[in-house]
Amino acid sequence: MLIKSFFGPAITGLRFPVLENIHKEIPIRVPEPETAFLHIYRNGVSVTGGIENLQVGAALKTGQRIAVELEGVKASAVSPVTGVVSQVSGQTGYSGKNYLKIAVKVDRKEQFDPGFRKAAEEPDGSAIMPFLDALPGNTDFSFISALQKPIRAFIVYGIDTEPFVTTNQFILAARTEELRAGMERLRPLFRGCRIFVAVPPYLEAMARITRAEVTVVEPVYPFTLPEMIMKKAFNFEIPAGRRIEELGVAFVNAETLVAMAEAFESGTPGVRKHLTVVTKNGDAALVNAKIGTPVGKVFSAAGIHTSPGDLIVQGGPMTGRSIHSEDAPVLKNTEALFIRERAEVPFSSDSHCINCGECVRACPAGIPVNMLVRVLENGLWEDAAGLYDLDACIECGLCSYVCPAKIPVFHYIMLGKHEAERIARAEDSDVQG
Ligand code: SF4
Ligand code: SF4
Repeated sequence: MLIKSFFGPAITGLRFPVLENIHKEIPIRVPEPETAFLHIYRNGVSVTGGIENLQVGAALKTGQRIAVELEGVKASAVSPVTGVVSQVSGQTGYSGKNYLKIAVKVDRKEQFDPGFRKAAEEPDGSAIMPFLDALPGNTDFSFISALQKPIRAFIVYGIDTEPFVTTNQFILAARTEELRAGMERLRPLFRGCRIFVAVPPYLEAMARITRAEVTVVEPVYPFTLPEMIMKKAFNFEIPAGRRIEELGVAFVNAETLVAMAEAFESGTPGVRKHLTVVTKNGDAALVNAKIGTPVGKVFSAAGIHTSPGDLIVQGGPMTGRSIHSEDAPVLKNTEALFIRERAEVPFSSDSHCINCGECVRACPAGIPVNMLVRVLENGLWEDAAGLYDLDACIECGLCSYVCPAKIPVFHYIMLGKHEAERIARAEDSDVQG
């Protein structure tokens, strides 16, 4: 495998707007839906069968941990609502990843489960980790608490990874004290860890109120991605194919820490999250919705009308994924929803690579993307990983963004990563079996 250093992308655009008045925003509160949907992902497990302990008709309380066995592998989520399970089914999602979909018919008489409070009383902190995993954001607390190596530093996102997304900037500016309280909850769970806050220059003064160490990040994509922050701010390169947590560092969203502070205060894990909704004419609104709320309900609350054929993207503009139904739920890591009018949807093509090299110049990981795309188009997943540095890709999406032939390079890459991982897992189980 080739291991490339990060040279930084040759393109200079994609600068974030400065949001001077972000602290004055009042998020639109989306009402609780009639039916909430939960998705439980578990790597390496087919969830088309083998759901052992969750039945239709089961009653759930808000904040209740749902632990399931998927073909012998444990996985869990936390119910964001009180209600009754109305559907449990295995689904296949983006890049062929399997997940378990649970529909919960909501009961308006909300009841709160005491599980979080009990878990918080356990002295070693391990019982609380599955609840923290379910907080809004991306941090895999169960994984990092189970590592042999301690986490030496948390880097708190006070900036958002993609342009137009505002969640973490809003939380840092508007809920600074709660963020500081969340940091104080984090410290005893990971004793001895240092806490840094990564912020754009205009939020530096606010970040200092938290008393964490402050790292100012250039608000230009992709310098806001974890790998780039590590390289530029800490002069530390993450080796290809390694998870950053294995190196003793973890990223956590400002929103996650505020939700953590609230959870310890109230005894119930946070089940709401903020997300930015960008309309067809480019207007942006910050909304606050329960995890599991169908995106159609978010649009209704924000007064947004969609038409058949509109493109709905869940996630940021660079790496988001299109969704095909307004029943798709807000997930714990849904930072934004973008709507594009049908006529304005950028087309992608199956034309051949013209070898212009734009993707290679844009790639911050120094990958020969023009070669990589050729093997991926032909389904040569192992060659992609072994010869053309697939594992070094930091999933920024810039290659697709710049490609003049409109080849969906990024989607080929994500599919290639999934397939290479699947092959490696199958080989591992053959060796063990
Ligand atoms: S998504 Fe494309 S541009 Fe970004 S790191 Fe991966 S190969 Fe390079
Ligand atoms: S930008 Fe597109 S056309 Fe140009 S080399 Fe890369 S994949 Fe080929």
